[in-house]
Amino acid sequence: MSPERLYPPVQCLRCGFENELGDRYCKQCGASLTGPTPVTKPKADPALISIIVTVAGTLFIPLAGGVVGLILAYRALRGARTSGGQRGSEKLAKTAVIVGWGGVALGVLPLCMLMTMSGAQLGISACEGLFQALSDMLPAGLGR
Ligand SMILES: [Zn+2]
Repeated sequence: MSPERLYPPVQCLRCGFENELGDRYCKQCGASLTGPTPVTKPKADPALISIIVTVAGTLFIPLAGGVVGLILAYRALRGARTSGGQRGSEKLAKTAVIVGWGGVALGVLPLCMLMTMSGAQLGISACEGLFQALSDMLPAGLGR
């Protein structure tokens, strides 16, 4: 045994043969010494899921689909940021947020048009306020 060896030898789990540290496979039986390589399953990006929810949801339940998709998109964005991109790409999450707002706007737009067409001044100003809020929140959500 060489004196500079600082680490215990790596014992094979299958046959017990002592391999050198750094060996990846047992010299005796060929079993993997590092264990099954942790396969990082390509988990679906949460941002991608939120985009799907937004698009599919908006088709079926316009406003609710957009809102749910948007909530998921912001969660994906937060997750992507706090994990440094480990839990999904931030770029995709930002796209998801934009898609989410688009879904919300698509859901709200017909309501606004209806109210506007009915000539209610209240409806017009409510819609103006709503879209003002939307345009304020979008950059706020995307900014750091
Ligand atoms: Zn072995």
